[in-house]
Amino acid sequence: MIVPVSVLRQDPLTGRWVVLAAERAKRPEAFFHSAQPLPELTADCPFCPGSEVQTPPEILRIADNAPWQIRVVPNKYAALAPPAGLSPSGDSLHRSVPSGGAAEVVIETPEHIAPFDTLGPEHAANLIRVYQARYSDLVTCSGIEIVLVFRNHLPQSGASLLHPHSQILASAFLPPVLAAEADCFAVYQAKQEACLGCAMYAAEAAGELAIAQIADFLLLSPFAARSPFEILLLPRTHAADFLAADPLALAKALQDAFRRIRRGLNNPPVNFWLHCKPNSIITDFHWHIHILPRFTIEGGWELGTGLPINVVPPELAAAHLRLF
Ligand SMILES: [Zn+2]
Ligand SMILES: [Zn+2]
Ligand SMILES: [Zn+2]
Repeated sequence: MIVPVSVLRQDPLTGRWVVLAAERAKRPEAFFHSAQPLPELTADCPFCPGSEVQTPPEILRIADNAPWQIRVVPNKYAALAPPAGLSPSGDSLHRSVPSGGAAEVVIETPEHIAPFDTLGPEHAANLIRVYQARYSDLVTCSGIEIVLVFRNHLPQSGASLLHPHSQILASAFLPPVLAAEADCFAVYQAKQEACLGCAMYAAEAAGELAIAQIADFLLLSPFAARSPFEILLLPRTHAADFLAADPLALAKALQDAFRRIRRGLNNPPVNFWLHCKPNSIITDFHWHIHILPRFTIEGGWELGTGLPINVVPPELAAAHLRLF
């Protein structure tokens, strides 16, 4: 498809508008990430085997034949304290609310450097099982609104430690991004009498935005991707959360997305985060995962307008990622 010189597109999932600036369009090769040399392997990595005492006491451990395969520990530097009284206080210009929740770190492997997509299938499936176990525990804690599973890969994506790890945050506060998505689901349901996620799956599975289909999961370039090579992982089966998802198949799909980004774009920094229905939302929701390679830094335009500029048409991004 030919994308017009410049066009605004709206993301159906968030309602966010995005500028596709095709006149500044770049070929996918322009994004081939020039890999920074990785820092030396340090003996004092708190996530490496032998340093277990450096982390707070373990919440969960998956043991393989080695001492351990995956560990979950509380986050030493949590942004969120355990739930407290949550009524906003202050006058109309100075509202605040205590930040309540929990924060955990999932140490994904004993290996200090091991790209997520290179973990063995059973190991990767165990990681999904750990996410599911911790999610189901935290989401039922009193006062909790959402639980977010996410991962920062490489320092430029916000990772403070190189050792492969992901994080699970439980928040008593409904974050704006999830509130906006829940709104989009509710409005779509009211107007179309259908689930937005199911509709997107049906519309995109065989279209030019599709990247790959792995078992029950579709990887696609969002129609209004906010930045180059963003991927959305959408399950075919309608569900508000990922607790019933097949760990082996989901791990395979997530690894496939990371593999395409690592090979197709030379291991850029990347984030993923998993969206499920917030507890207080009573309308329908279709869980999904956002995977975002980090190529762009927000400038004055983006900060001043909330309109991201994407210089790679999503159709072109999908075509590139299909090759890997
Ligand atoms: Zn390490
Ligand atoms: Zn659905
Ligand atoms: Zn989402």
